[in-house]
Amino acid sequence: MANQKKLDAITSRDVDFAQWYTDVCRKAELMDYSSIKGFIIYRPYGYAIWERIQNYLDQRFKETGHENVYMPMLIPESLLQKEADHVEGFAPECAVVTRGGLNELEEKLVIRPTSETLFCEHYAKVVNSYRDLPKKYNQWCSVVRWEKTTRPFLRGSEFLWQEGHTIHATEEEAREETLQMLHIYEEMSRELLAIPMVTGKKTDKEKFAGAEETYTIEALMHDGKALQSGTSHYFGQGFAKAFDMKFLDKDGRQKYVYQTSWGASTRLLGAIIMVHGDDNGLVLPPRVAPTQLMIIPIQQKKPGVLEKAEAIMADLKAQGIRVKLDDADKSPGWKFSEQEMRGIPLRLEIGPKDIENNQCVLVKRNDGTKMTVAIDENLGKMVSELLEQMHEEMLLKATQHRDASTHEVKTYEEFKETLEKKGGYIKAMWCGDPECEAKIKEETGATTRCMKDELTPHSDTCVYCGKKAKHIVYFAKAY
Ligand SMILES: [Zn+2]
Repeated sequence: MANQKKLDAITSRDVDFAQWYTDVCRKAELMDYSSIKGFIIYRPYGYAIWERIQNYLDQRFKETGHENVYMPMLIPESLLQKEADHVEGFAPECAVVTRGGLNELEEKLVIRPTSETLFCEHYAKVVNSYRDLPKKYNQWCSVVRWEKTTRPFLRGSEFLWQEGHTIHATEEEAREETLQMLHIYEEMSRELLAIPMVTGKKTDKEKFAGAEETYTIEALMHDGKALQSGTSHYFGQGFAKAFDMKFLDKDGRQKYVYQTSWGASTRLLGAIIMVHGDDNGLVLPPRVAPTQLMIIPIQQKKPGVLEKAEAIMADLKAQGIRVKLDDADKSPGWKFSEQEMRGIPLRLEIGPKDIENNQCVLVKRNDGTKMTVAIDENLGKMVSELLEQMHEEMLLKATQHRDASTHEVKTYEEFKETLEKKGGYIKAMWCGDPECEAKIKEETGATTRCMKDELTPHSDTCVYCGKKAKHIVYFAKAY
């Protein structure tokens, strides 16, 4: 092992993208498998990335007037059944507790697949008057959905997420909330993860079980498939009526509340991996990277090398950069490939010769650029600027990929050929008939990702049936 210079290579993205993805998840030490299928272990490095996403979102939620709460993880079966569409949507994937201790339970308890029903039950109890509104709660938790096919972060039987649930006195206010939270997700993706999203409304077939409207952020992966990365739902009064969530309004009349819910999950880790990663492993956007710069000493046993490395680390840390020093007893080459696999944005090399010349070498993970820089009072500022520049470069690259992979088509022949040869988003017109949507999915494997009716139509007729078109739709194969 001692003379081994590099980590074992991972599968190339172009050879087998699915295998490449699994290799990165495991070799970057983001996760491990447990003994139950679909239930993964979030290792410290993977969890640290999630914590940075959490911190960002939690701050934005609180700035916009939301409060964190915690609901029980078990839902009585009768409670879940109160809203018909909701139970129909979730029943097939529920895990159910039937015993408590040594006794069979009188009523089965469902492990939460999502917590709308619990929030509704609670809101119905605590809200009486317009003075009690709005209520804007969020909870950080895990949910369980019994999935047949599972993949780390993308589809798990248990995953971590946040779910926001709000109730309002007016429809207008609830609709505003729905769009505000969609906007926060879109900004988080762009500002923190350097991922440009396509945002829009889901079709009736793809919307959340029980929602009137579902809005989504969709990211485009390197292989041209889309990933739904966060959703925001407008519920209208559907749940309010099922759960009798009423309030006494200013005009002295009893009214039902208007409701929203919105969620984002550890799926976002999958998006980061598949949007930015390369054949050497993970490439982390600097703002979400738990470690932004790794110092790797060269000939670290020579006098003065480690001392200098530690001094640089202290200096950078003091300037707010998330920096670590890799002084493990391994060859520098080994450490280079390890930190590349883990996607650490910057590497700083320092050896005896560099110290003599009062300089060090910086290497950018996103494009491999290598530069020699002076070790002086400007180093911290320079590193900070470089990290910001890398964020912009990664966002630009992902945006160019998304835009180059968005294809406007008018005919079904074009649709099929483009999807087959180029992949990515197929932008096409649709009549609104669920039958056309179902046929397109069945025949091509592409689903409606979202509708973007604010854009200018490029054709008058449905791409499938030729009838009058109603919606501008982004189709894609998706995870
Ligand atoms: Zn049609």
